[in-house]
Amino acid sequence: MGNFVSLADIDVKGKRVLVRADLNVPVHLGAVSDDARIRKLLPTIKALTARGAKVILLSHFGRPKGRDVTQSLRIILPVLEKLLGQKVEFAEDSIGKDTEQLVAGLSEGDVALLENLRFYPQEEANDKDFAAALALLGDVYVNDAFSAAHRAHASIEALARLLPAAAGLLMQAELEALSKSLEQPVRPVAALVGGAKISTKLDVLNNLVEKCDYLILGGGMANTFLLASGIAVGKSLKEAEMLESARNIIAKAKNAGCELVLPVDVVVSTSFSADAEYQTVDVGNIPDDKMALDVGEKSVARINQVLQQCKTLVWNGPLGAFELAPFAKGTVEVARCAADLTAKGQLLSVAGGGDTMSALATAGVEEKFSYISSAGGAFLEWLEGKILPGVAVLPRKQAA
Ligand code: AMP
Repeated sequence: MGNFVSLADIDVKGKRVLVRADLNVPVHLGAVSDDARIRKLLPTIKALTARGAKVILLSHFGRPKGRDVTQSLRIILPVLEKLLGQKVEFAEDSIGKDTEQLVAGLSEGDVALLENLRFYPQEEANDKDFAAALALLGDVYVNDAFSAAHRAHASIEALARLLPAAAGLLMQAELEALSKSLEQPVRPVAALVGGAKISTKLDVLNNLVEKCDYLILGGGMANTFLLASGIAVGKSLKEAEMLESARNIIAKAKNAGCELVLPVDVVVSTSFSADAEYQTVDVGNIPDDKMALDVGEKSVARINQVLQQCKTLVWNGPLGAFELAPFAKGTVEVARCAADLTAKGQLLSVAGGGDTMSALATAGVEEKFSYISSAGGAFLEWLEGKILPGVAVLPRKQAA
């Protein structure tokens, strides 16, 4: 995955640089409620403006059906200006004469933001003419939106073919972390997959058993694996229709020399609530009327022992119902162990996926992993071993 043309490899002085960003930030009561995605983009914007580029930001925002002022990217303008510490021009349209004129008026070091790309259905259709209209606005294309790279949309795929292209700093950091954790990892490699269901992560599991030395399973999905191994799981979340898939994964792991690490004890309760009574039992003793909501202490000890032996960890999904304090302990303790091993230089730890970020934030380790990806869908598709169209299209450096 490595060796992409990056910012350092391109000449940007005086050039109009189209930066595909992911500014699809959460909004609450008419204001940006989490500016993390904007912050992550700042290094790329600043690196470009410092080198005399004219930066033009492109992004999607929400899921509008055609032009819809309630889903205008204008909402992020004040936040972007404040974080960047400079004025940002706003173009009411992402293509067309007026936008071309606005861009023509930019000076070196200026920044402009174009209106929501998804006001045009051609964006999601990867339409070549729409991409060509966007290409008129720039001399160079930079993709800094790894989180959107699993989508073959016009600003991500077709546009990258029309201009000299490069990976932005955030994209580059993501690609480097992903490459080190699964493509050319230092072994042994452990994958930890938790979360609610097998059905949403079947392709992930099938890919990981072939690439990892250990596959650690937790969360609701571990219940189905326990059931597939003949262990009763009471009222726990389980997927009866996935039993055969679970058995196939168990067999595939055996053939591939990947050790499956399943919970040996679990925290059970009669209800999915923070004030419910709970207790820890071995997996052979899950009462018929209770559900497993977290892994127990013995499981945590076993998982941490595995991590001690590993050099690389890739993590997606919590080990239990971490949103409820009594069932967050397994996730928190394993996350802290991984963070400590990372601090000691023993482990490269990479995590990603929507809930995983908040689970690791609950454990207070979000700054302590080697890399935490903020990409949800793109991270999962990469774990599935899929080729991401927005990455595949980026040029690689010529071998020296
Ligand atoms: P996912 O989006 O697949 O990563 O799943 C995350 C969700 O799985 C979280 O909301 C957790 O509460 C839930 N989860 C994790 N472990 C369990 C469990 N043992 N039983 C029910 N839900 C769980």
